[in-house]
Amino acid sequence: MADCIAAISTPMASGGVSMIRISGADALKVAAKVFIPKYPVRDIEKMDGYTAAYGDITADGTKLDDGVLLIFRAPHSYTGENTAEITCHGGIHVTKRVLQAVLSAGAVMAQAGEFTKQALVNGKLSLTEAEGVIDLINAGNDQLLSCARAQTDGALYRRIEALCEEIIAITSEIAVWIDYPDESEDEDEIAKADWLRSTLAVKENIDSLIATYDCGEILRNGIATAIVGKPNAGKSTLMNRLTGVQKSIVTDIEGTTRDIVEDTVQLGDIMLKLADCAGIRETEDTVENIGVQRMIERIGTAQLILAVFDGSRELSDDDKRLIELLHGKTVIPIINKSDLEARADTAFIENELGKAVIISAKTGGGADELEQAIKQRCGISNLDAGAGFLANERQRQCALSAQAAVDRAYNALHGGMTADVAGLELEAALSSLYELSGKTASEEVIDRIFSRFCVGK
Ligand code: GDP
Repeated sequence: MADCIAAISTPMASGGVSMIRISGADALKVAAKVFIPKYPVRDIEKMDGYTAAYGDITADGTKLDDGVLLIFRAPHSYTGENTAEITCHGGIHVTKRVLQAVLSAGAVMAQAGEFTKQALVNGKLSLTEAEGVIDLINAGNDQLLSCARAQTDGALYRRIEALCEEIIAITSEIAVWIDYPDESEDEDEIAKADWLRSTLAVKENIDSLIATYDCGEILRNGIATAIVGKPNAGKSTLMNRLTGVQKSIVTDIEGTTRDIVEDTVQLGDIMLKLADCAGIRETEDTVENIGVQRMIERIGTAQLILAVFDGSRELSDDDKRLIELLHGKTVIPIINKSDLEARADTAFIENELGKAVIISAKTGGGADELEQAIKQRCGISNLDAGAGFLANERQRQCALSAQAAVDRAYNALHGGMTADVAGLELEAALSSLYELSGKTASEEVIDRIFSRFCVGK
């Protein structure tokens, strides 16, 4: 058995080409048993990294296919190991036969995510970066792609590292104090006040890290949005403008009837999920007929409500009833038809619902302001994906335990307990952060993460 793993890294489907990856100390030796370079003719085991050869792919001396061999030398490969990638024609059967040949030559079949696991073990990427790789593969839109990209680029890892350094700076001072307590009480007090300040700074940094989870959630999954307003306020026009200009993606959601669809509108960085769009359109007709019942339901479930008012008319009783229903909700009042003479009582609306956005759904005026208002209302105007954010529940749980430990450390210092108690709590916070970044993650946690990968990645 050779010291390397192998798997088909492309999907199991007919296509132009398929790729079989071999990674490990003996990868080139195994590749040399199945691949005969024809151009240029050379000894595979002596090939430089980042070079390719065209040739025959064989099994027991019989040609299976012809293809391309790509060589990466450790540590300059995805896995950090020697790696050979054989590209053959993309038929399912021929690809399987090439893999069989590679396994017969001594490679061991790779488990799900095992190449990325090798990369983790070899320090090519951190656990949070590995999680980003899965998110990148699963990313179904630009939004998810850029979030995943920020993860694979190590933004979160760097943020965690910085936090760890801040904590280590305090714990090492406390450790020195334990060994060599200050002579005078004054000095003691000064040191404690210093640790209290630094611990507070750490606490604030962890708090803001945890806050990124909700923002990330909105960036990843979009926000369930309802457009409400009385008939003729301009809801459909606004909706069409949003979907038309921004190219709406209409998807049938699995397991639901065909007429229930979800319109997804990309508004800048945010994805608005205008759920149950057919219902929204239907509501326009039924508001007057069957009252506000359906609107109440919609208002109850939406994460964000765009309340549209006809700015060219005075507020009606319907408008006022709607305003009452919206109290306490996450709502952006929109005064529409700014291209016409203004008659609606904007001050009243703003007094009741907060700052309004003035638009013309017809001409497109105010679109940027609307985007800004949505970001602000959702709390993501300050989120910088490139600065690192929590991307999943595992990461959030680790950050929460770190936060709890830092809180206890702060309370210990604040409550006048001896600094060694705070020191122990800060050590606990550090170990939660190490678990987050993967420095000390258990085998079980790592296995759980990699079970989400496909074989060949
Ligand atoms: P809905 O019942 O709330 O969905 O309202 P619609 O979108 O169907 O619009 C009602 C009427 O208002 C239509 O005749 C639209 O063309 C018109 N309308 C919508 N937005 C604007 C706007 O910004 N300016 C002007 N002048 N008319 C608008």
